[in-house]
Amino acid sequence: MIEGNEAISATKGLNAQLRIDLSALLSNYNLLKNKASPAKVAAVVKADAYGLGLKEVALALAGIGVDCFFVALVSEGIRLREILNAHRYEKADIYNFAGLQPGAESLCVKHNLIPILNSIAEIDRWAACGRKPTAIHIDTGMNRLGLSEGQVEDLHAAPERLKDLDLKLVMSHFACADDPNHPLNQVQLEKFRNLKAKLPSAPVSLSNSAGIFLGPETHFDMVRPGIALYGGNPQPGTPNPMTPVITLSAPILQIREVPAGQTIGYGATYRTKANSRIAVLSLGYADGFLRSFGNNAKIVMDDTPLAVVGRVSMDLIALDVTAIAKDRIKVGDKIEILGASTTIDDLALSGGAIPYEILTLLGQRYERQYV
Ligand SMILES: *Cc1c(COP(=O)(O)O)cnc(C)c1O
Repeated sequence: MIEGNEAISATKGLNAQLRIDLSALLSNYNLLKNKASPAKVAAVVKADAYGLGLKEVALALAGIGVDCFFVALVSEGIRLREILNAHRYEKADIYNFAGLQPGAESLCVKHNLIPILNSIAEIDRWAACGRKPTAIHIDTGMNRLGLSEGQVEDLHAAPERLKDLDLKLVMSHFACADDPNHPLNQVQLEKFRNLKAKLPSAPVSLSNSAGIFLGPETHFDMVRPGIALYGGNPQPGTPNPMTPVITLSAPILQIREVPAGQTIGYGATYRTKANSRIAVLSLGYADGFLRSFGNNAKIVMDDTPLAVVGRVSMDLIALDVTAIAKDRIKVGDKIEILGASTTIDDLALSGGAIPYEILTLLGQRYERQYV
């Protein structure tokens, strides 16, 4: 929304509303802290804090003493550094998963960002920048970012290559932590133990949100949760120990009686089996409500699952509200789309998505309210 524009401010209440509960965020942090203790709990705030707002999220966490953050991009790191410094949190560490892309060296130095080095070339380039804090990512089986086993051996054989680095952290990342029985977890854990021992002694970190729930042997010195802070279930398929952080509600623009046998929406993909009452809501794929939810998702209202019928439009969805008493809803009411009743995990699952996508794709048209 255009800030400071009075005419637009006057539309307040007409758009869908996204309520972000920062106290729920902090209680999730504290739950993870108890779970991972004595390991340090950093906060992953990449992608605008999973879509919830980097500034509000980072300052809330810094306010309870969180002093270590992870971002994915240099640009995110610079933005976070400005936010933290403006509030006297200049001592906080900001690690950057992207590592040290060619051309990023002076930016990392200038904005006091810690690149997580992914290759020998990055190690050499960072060492040439002077003795600055750094981290090393070792790949233990995901084959995404990080030094390979062979490269760790090479460094082990040539330790002078690391002598100009102020090594703050050695990390790796689980590929399958959300599936506790996946055999790769144990393989990665053992590989991590073995490889970290070949590097100079430094604090080590392996676990994301799901990893924290694999048990204490995966906690090491620091854990790096993201999704669990924001209310996502770190162990899909089991009861979610986290508190929902977002509540999204969208206004009803129209309620229509649709006779049996009529179709609804683009492509006429849904045909009413009986006379139906359909609520049309002001929310669509432009707001991050994925098109794959059309004819698949259920929105729970008064303990009643309501089907999203027909295709999701750019700005609209149709909900079958036949099961809701007529006097219970009217045009203008806001229907809770996401929150305690319809969770980000449930909604994601219904459309072949993951809760990470639901959060990071939240649109810019919502009225955001932080509480
Ligand atoms: C995104 C990310 C995390 C956080 O993962 P969650 O599953 O959201 O807890 C941790 N470590 C790395 C390397 C990541 O890319």
